[in-house]
Amino acid sequence: MIASGALSPLAKGDELAAAVRRKFDSYRDKLKQLADWCESEGLADQASRTRAWLQPVAEDRLLIPILPAQIGGESPPDDAAPGVKEWYQKWMTLRRQQAEDLFSLARGAIRQGRAGLALDLALRALHENPDHEALRRIFGYQPYAGEWRTRYEVGRLRAGQIWDDRFGWIPKSQLARFERGERPADPRWISVEEDTRRRRERNIGWTVDTEHFQVWTDHSLEGAALVGKKLETLHELWSRLFVRYYLTEAQVLSLFDARSRSFAPQPVQHKVVVFRTRSEYNEALRSRAPQIEITGGMYVGDSRTAYFFFHESPDGADLEQALDVTTVYHEATHQLFYELGRVAPTAGQRGNFWVIEGAAMYMETLRREGDFLVLGGIDTPRMIAARFRRLQDGFYIPFREFTAMTMQDWQSDPRIGAVYSQAAGITNFLIHHDGGKYREALVQCLLAVYRGTDTPDVLARLTGRSFAGLDEEYLQYLKAMPPLPPMRLESR
Ligand SMILES: [Zn+2]
Repeated sequence: MIASGALSPLAKGDELAAAVRRKFDSYRDKLKQLADWCESEGLADQASRTRAWLQPVAEDRLLIPILPAQIGGESPPDDAAPGVKEWYQKWMTLRRQQAEDLFSLARGAIRQGRAGLALDLALRALHENPDHEALRRIFGYQPYAGEWRTRYEVGRLRAGQIWDDRFGWIPKSQLARFERGERPADPRWISVEEDTRRRRERNIGWTVDTEHFQVWTDHSLEGAALVGKKLETLHELWSRLFVRYYLTEAQVLSLFDARSRSFAPQPVQHKVVVFRTRSEYNEALRSRAPQIEITGGMYVGDSRTAYFFFHESPDGADLEQALDVTTVYHEATHQLFYELGRVAPTAGQRGNFWVIEGAAMYMETLRREGDFLVLGGIDTPRMIAARFRRLQDGFYIPFREFTAMTMQDWQSDPRIGAVYSQAAGITNFLIHHDGGKYREALVQCLLAVYRGTDTPDVLARLTGRSFAGLDEEYLQYLKAMPPLPPMRLESR
């Protein structure tokens, strides 16, 4: 059941978002002053590094910093010029203070029941001070051999293994032989060609285990490792944004409580199969989905497995080009919601199907920009389509009707393409509009729909807005965006 007492503050005027904005504004001023000081001291490189640190506050996207693994990794070398050392001290003083301030805003967000925003702020704080122990612990890191590692990684490393993007986790002592094109075949070593031939012959394939996934493929070891790495990134972001989907309020609170060190969610491993070719994929899954040809991947709840395939790509092309990563993110998101929640068999069949697809489409937007992983944005293909449909085509299904649609309604609707893009638009709106004031309402809506406790008015109730009010607010949200690029949509 959804506790109604916790809901109303989510939708009220957002002082917290305003406080976050103010904090970043004043931080930017301080960094600018430091950059000016660098210039006056003739420290051109340091001035530009300081200026580059001024990240704009993205209102339409989530920016997730990629954290350095090494502890204390950024400090200048001992023989650096005194001016450089002085700059670094000043810079780190500002950053540490900003980290503390963001951490306290994060704790404020927790007190307001806004766990997703709290984790977002805690992560920005960690970006400012990557060696902040309490913050690192929230994200499951511990110090190990001069680096920040998860408990799972520490277990692997203690066992003498290393992660390699090509081979997955292997014994460190074997890396050189792997790189020379040899593979272990107990008790001897054989060539990679021989290994491939044997595995194909016996249909053994390759399995790569990561912290949260077990990937099997009959393509190659590198193929399994690539998919495993992509999925771990997806999992990392999914687990932060939707933390209140799989953890209770009390569990999130205890993450932020330095005294309760013991709590750490047990990792669950999700099964993924990636076929070498589309025809293998079609053949394996046709009995489950008669229209398998039009899918690019699928999650099957009964077998708790997500299925994909490698596309044909020119010889010598990058393996990544053979992977439709957007589809991987989409279907694996369905898998995470399904396997990490208490899911009712009727989920999405009584209405509110939009939220299941909306969340998957949102995670499709995962990409890397510079030192950040990025989610969402008004310029992603589905979002552009959503804006185009609403503002230029005049295609729009009002919230009351749209949220009432079931999975069956979607599948039989001739406007299915436009329906998908509207769900993508609405999800982006709920996650980002006005500092993310509806973000937790969206997560609570997902929770209710997957558990089968949703009612037709669940979204209105959670956001504290009438459906008509949401219609109007969504329209204004789209209208406030910069003009659409010139484009034409195929009719579907
Ligand atoms: Zn889907």
